[in-house]
Amino acid sequence: MMTIRSIRPNRWPMSSMILSNLYSSNSSSAAAVQAERTIREGPRNDWTRQEIKSIYDSPVLDLLFHGAQVHRYAHNFREVQQCTLLSIKTGGCSEDCSYCPQSSRYDTGVKSQKLMNKDAVIQAAQKAKEAGSTRFCMGAAWRETVGRKTNFNQILEYVKEIREMGMEVCCTLGMLEKQQALELKAAGLTAYNHNLDTSREYYPKIITTRSYDERLETLTHVREAGINVCSGGIIGLGEAEEDRVGLLHTLATLPTHPESVPINALLAVKGTPLEDQKPVEIWEMVRMIGTARIVMPKAMVRLSAGRVRFSMPEQALCFLAGANSIFTGEKLLTTPNNDIDADQLMFKVLGLIPKAPSFSDDEAKDLEAENCEEAVSSSG
Ligand code: SF4
Repeated sequence: MMTIRSIRPNRWPMSSMILSNLYSSNSSSAAAVQAERTIREGPRNDWTRQEIKSIYDSPVLDLLFHGAQVHRYAHNFREVQQCTLLSIKTGGCSEDCSYCPQSSRYDTGVKSQKLMNKDAVIQAAQKAKEAGSTRFCMGAAWRETVGRKTNFNQILEYVKEIREMGMEVCCTLGMLEKQQALELKAAGLTAYNHNLDTSREYYPKIITTRSYDERLETLTHVREAGINVCSGGIIGLGEAEEDRVGLLHTLATLPTHPESVPINALLAVKGTPLEDQKPVEIWEMVRMIGTARIVMPKAMVRLSAGRVRFSMPEQALCFLAGANSIFTGEKLLTTPNNDIDADQLMFKVLGLIPKAPSFSDDEAKDLEAENCEEAVSSSG
């Protein structure tokens, strides 16, 4: 069994008396009990759905408080990673994801564009880096990458070059096969995003053109290739709370938790089948984030799409509950995103600090060696 040290080695041991006072005197909600267990034992993969439901159903302020406790043990609570997501190939997608303005099946006004060229992509990555982003994510509106050899090879080059800029690199290109995952890993990809979107039960109401198991298979290929897994979902699709619990249960019981869990709030787009969905409320986000933080303590929990609708105090509640990453930049693929100046002001007001990129030891050594070589050759 993992020990408490596995969460945050420099924070332990905590006096068991302080720990028990902290929890027993204040509350005995499931959020309190399970947060204490997470802190004591470290990440677990044997969550039952009922356990996660009980956490999710805890009084929201209690969930917020205990999500914050776990967050502070597992992470530096002031650090928030800034990521930039760029749509490198927009629209015209053959899939029928009901929330997506890029599906060719819906009339949303999104114009289909070919794969962006290298100069434009690298320029965007450079701009993102200068604005403080440490992770650059490239999204392509494809069902899968199979049969797109030329485009895929181009993307491998983009990955390599952006990685050499010292940024974490993530892609979301649809379903992957094993070989492609290995090639992305060799190019230096840090993470691959492939969301499960919702629970297995509700999924067929949202997407019919590929199955839940196909999604999980892509995650397996990514994991086996040694790439970090980025997988989360969207709330506000018309699902029940039970489906939100189901999504978190599937993620938290994967053999290894995703390193990154984006929590999106639907931004209903006119022309999509979900155009009339009512907006997600902040308390729904807090419940999702707090629960994700307690059941997957080490993951980066990303406050993703839909953030544009939340005020600074509302976003502060999300950070308190355990979110530690945001997407910055003018757009999130094709939907609007928060203003960069407003984000900078938010960091200042809330006392947040940008999180540096993190690489595995091997990657860091490779990058250091490359930088040394560059320094030697440019000085010679
Ligand atoms: S979410 Fe991705 S796969 Fe689904 S329609 Fe949009 S671009 Fe295509």
